[in-house]
Amino acid sequence: MNAEIIASGTELLLGEVADINTSFIASQLASLGIDLYYASVVGDNYERFSEVLRQAFERSDIVIITGGLGPTKGDITREVIAGLMGEKMELDPALQQHITDFFSRVHLEMTDNNLKQAMIIPCAGAIPNPLGTAPGWWVEKESKIIISLPGPPREMQPMWQKEILPRLEKKGSGIILSRTLKTWGLSEAKIDQLVGPYMSLANPTLALYAKADGIQLRITAKSNTREGAQELIRGRESELRMILKDSVWGGDQETLEEIVSRLILDKGLSVAIAESFTGGLLSYSFSGVHESSQFFKGGLIIADEDSRKSMGIVTGSNSGQADIRTASLMAALAREKFKADIGIGIDGRIQPQSDDASLGQAFLAIVLEEGEHNFAQTYPSRSYLLARRAVMNAFFSLRKVLLGL
Ligand code: ATP
Ligand code: MG
Repeated sequence: MNAEIIASGTELLLGEVADINTSFIASQLASLGIDLYYASVVGDNYERFSEVLRQAFERSDIVIITGGLGPTKGDITREVIAGLMGEKMELDPALQQHITDFFSRVHLEMTDNNLKQAMIIPCAGAIPNPLGTAPGWWVEKESKIIISLPGPPREMQPMWQKEILPRLEKKGSGIILSRTLKTWGLSEAKIDQLVGPYMSLANPTLALYAKADGIQLRITAKSNTREGAQELIRGRESELRMILKDSVWGGDQETLEEIVSRLILDKGLSVAIAESFTGGLLSYSFSGVHESSQFFKGGLIIADEDSRKSMGIVTGSNSGQADIRTASLMAALAREKFKADIGIGIDGRIQPQSDDASLGQAFLAIVLEEGEHNFAQTYPSRSYLLARRAVMNAFFSLRKVLLGL
């Protein structure tokens, strides 16, 4: 079964209103297992709207229209559907009563043009609209369906949830579920190479996305039942995990800082940070985590050479040069100053390579009771990206250290 969406309204074509209805309905259809092949936007013009609807009705099983159900002359969805169906609209007494009641309830004057919303064609059923005057329409003809919904999202979405979803669930051809695996440390090209054979398979499908917190792999499975789709995803996930190993750090809505914080809490440990070029970003990321007050003791931002010296961070290397030794001293300092179990030091430098390219180096030290772990990373990077990557890498490395990976 496939569907098509038509968002109507000249205001959408003028760019005055962003089309939220299409994305809402599209995501709803995906979870119903109904394929969406086309979505169009059309203005409030009878000929053009009729042409778009005619084409949609010919090529799709279900056509879902939003907008154009109001009382004004510009609201023409009913006329357009009636035209395609070749039927005449008549006043429906029950709908008229609903509209009259609605106006008396909100103490507003009802004008004659509101009666337009009580008109319907014989092959259509009215869909109740508790939040407004305009009922939706459900039209079934030649084993095809046209669904017409109000334009305002606050009316359309409740109508969808209460009236449309239950009806479509009975007609849907299955369930589509997705799961996202999140990785760090491998490039998109490398992951593409590793999991390439899975990318051309149909069910589950696999797609790659580069995000700020690493490369994500989205597994999407379709089945007649929820359990069937879950089973397909589980199978593919374990195959991918075997290939990508420790690069996978989480999935779906999880964030790396939350995962790491949970590990620290579970082990009953505490953390302190000293950072330079990341300007507090690592501390800020920790402090944004729920329950961080239970394990995050504090952070220092050590920005310049004088401050380094005054805090005893003297490495003997060239003045102002970031290196692993500096990061190590910073980690030890933070750990001692805040009396924390884990000290993290993060230092870095940007080396301009040419006018628009630079090489970023980040140095990370994690000091614990039982020893120290050092990591050095090089990124072709702009400075703001370098800081974010270095912070992500700090979380990723700390996760490995805590899990003994
Ligand atoms: P009304 O009775 O309010 O006129 P309607 O069903 O006739 O409702 P439209 O006239 O097409 O709907 O749109 C009314 C308002 O609803 C628009 O001005 C806009 O604010 C909002 N709207 C309509 N379509 C969309 C859409 N696709 N995405 C987001 N908002 C929309
Ligand atoms: Mg309108």
